[in-house]
Amino acid sequence: MENPTKERTLVVIKPDGIQRILVGEIISRYERVGLKLVGIKMVVPTKKFIEEHYTLEPEWRRITGEKNIKAYKDKGMEHPINDPYKITEIILEKLKKYMTSGPVIAMIWEGAHAVAIVRKITGGTEPLTSDVGTIRGDYVLDSYKLSDDDYRAVRNLVHASGSVKEAGLEIAHWFRKDEIMPYRHVQEQILYDINLDGETD
Ligand code: ADP
Ligand code: MG
Repeated sequence: MENPTKERTLVVIKPDGIQRILVGEIISRYERVGLKLVGIKMVVPTKKFIEEHYTLEPEWRRITGEKNIKAYKDKGMEHPINDPYKITEIILEKLKKYMTSGPVIAMIWEGAHAVAIVRKITGGTEPLTSDVGTIRGDYVLDSYKLSDDDYRAVRNLVHASGSVKEAGLEIAHWFRKDEIMPYRHVQEQILYDINLDGETD
């Protein structure tokens, strides 16, 4: 098994995150928890690249469709479409427009439990119900209802890999090996070294 302190995850600041002037704010949220930035680039993705990105994990279509049906149910509403695959097909079309509408910033963050820690800091998919204190909970106010009514993707500022498997596939999709920078941070000693002796004279 990989060294758990070396786990990596992909974060993409979506076009609305850049337009809302939140790049520094978003990066600082991941930085301050102790994660290490090992890759970063700004690009305007193509529609093909975005479709590939969201379908790297074969289960994504089913899981995302079911998550949407449940989100409506939890609010006492019924989703207008009850086939999870049909729902995701529409979401994918909307995502291709959203994610190619301007530059995005792709990043690789590394550290202990990077995937789960980044998801926690990022917050749930729908800003209406994302926890306060998370990026999606604190900086944006969209909902499934609003985005459905306007026939567009939910604007939630950032993408973050949903699992370790997804992270591995996504990092390979967005970054070449030579674009990833392995290096040692001074703070790794206080985060990960077994002994903290030698801190006083
Ligand atoms: P997450 O980004 O939290 O991992 P998903 O993988 O389920 O969420 O969905 C990918 C992205 O698709 C979301 O971040 C959001 O921008 C968009 N999205 C998800 N569900 C919907 C929906 N019902 N309507 C519009 N856009 C959606
Ligand atoms: Mg996802």
